[in-house]
Amino acid sequence: ASRAAARALDQGPRKPRMAAEPLTDSHGRRVSDLRISVTDRCNFRCQYCMPAEGMDWIERSGILTYEEIERLVGILGSIGIDAVRLTGGEPLVRRELPELIGRIKGLGTIRDLALTTNGYLLERHAEALAGAGLDRINVSIDSLERDRFFRLTRRDALPQVLAGLEAVMAQPGIGSVKVNAVAIRGFTEVELHRFCDLARTSGCQVRFIEFMPLDGDRSWDPSQVLTGAELRVLIEEFHALEEVEREPSATARVFRFADGQGEIGFISPVSEPFCSDCNRLRLTADGKLRTCLFSLNETDLLGPLRDGTDDAGIESMIRQAVRGKELRHRINEPGFQQPDRTMSAIGG
Ligand code: SAM
Ligand code: SF4
Repeated sequence: ASRAAARALDQGPRKPRMAAEPLTDSHGRRVSDLRISVTDRCNFRCQYCMPAEGMDWIERSGILTYEEIERLVGILGSIGIDAVRLTGGEPLVRRELPELIGRIKGLGTIRDLALTTNGYLLERHAEALAGAGLDRINVSIDSLERDRFFRLTRRDALPQVLAGLEAVMAQPGIGSVKVNAVAIRGFTEVELHRFCDLARTSGCQVRFIEFMPLDGDRSWDPSQVLTGAELRVLIEEFHALEEVEREPSATARVFRFADGQGEIGFISPVSEPFCSDCNRLRLTADGKLRTCLFSLNETDLLGPLRDGTDDAGIESMIRQAVRGKELRHRINEPGFQQPDRTMSAIGG
C-alpha cells in the first residue's frame, strides 16, 4: 500500500477510465502475454545462446529498476496483459528477484506469473520464490548426462540444477514445473529415453524447443534443427503418444504417454510456426519493447520512464508498438536477418 501511495504522490492519481481498449495488433491479435528480461547477464554460456566469451553487458544504470518494471506492468495490466514471464539472461542472478515477484503480484492484474531459469540458483531461492507468489516455473535442462550438459552449457552444473528442480517441485505454492530442452540434431537424439523417463516419473512436463537462429556465435544452420515432428517419430518408437487438446496461443503441442504416465511437449517455432495466434510482447532488461523474438526494431520505454512521461504517454507508445507487431517471423525465407541481440539479451 505504501508503494502505491508513493506512486500516487509522484504522478498524481490515475484518471478513472472507461474499460480500456484491449491491446490489439493490426492483424487482429489480442496481446496479453509479456516476457520480461530482468538481466542480460548469466552464469552459464549455453552454446546455442551466448558466445563463450566477449559479451558486452548492459551498464547497470541502463537496466530497468524493479519500480520501473512495476510501473510498466501496471500500465500493461490495465490494457489487457494478464500473464507475465520473468526471464533473462539468468533471472536468478539478479538480486532480490522475489521482491519483483511480490510487486507484480501486488498489482492484482497478473493472473499468471511465471519464471524461466537455468536452475543453478534455484535450490537456494525456491522457497522465497514460492512465498512471493510465483505461479509457475520452467527449468531449462538440455542434457541429463553430466559431461554432455557441461559440453552444451559450458558449466559443470547438472547436479546443482537437478537439486534446484527437486527443491522447486517440493513447493506446493508453485502450480506447475516444466523442463525445457533445446533440441539439436546430432546431440539430443540419444537422450530421448532419459527425457521420457524424467517426464514419466517426476510429474513435470518435458518440452523440446527447436533451435532458433538467436545464438551468440551466429553459427545456426537449418540442418541443426531437430524438429518436433522428427522427435515425435523417434519417441513413438518406444512410447505411444496421444495429443492433448491445445490451448489458444499455447506455444507447445502437448502429448500424453498413452499409458497415462506423464506428458511431453514440442515447441516448434521453426518447422511449425505459431505466429498466427501469437499474443506475446517482450521487454528487454534495458527497457526496449519487442513485438517479436525476431524484431529488427524495438521501442525504447526506459527513456520515457525516466524523463517524466506520464502513464497515458507510455500507454500510447506501447499501443503504437503493438500496432506494428510483425505478422510472422521469416526464418524460413531467403534474406532472413538474425537480430543483433542474442537470445540472452532478448529474453526467451
Ligand atoms: N537463463 C534462463 C534459462 O536458460 O532458462 C532464461 C533465459 S533463456 C534465454 C530462455 C530459454 O531460451 C531457455 O529455455 C533456453 O534454452 C532457450 N534458448 C536460448 N537460446 C535458444 C535458441 N537459440 N533457440 C531455442 N531456444 C533457445
Ligand atoms: Fe544463460 Fe539461459 Fe542463455 Fe543458457 S540459455 S546462456 S542459461 S540465458
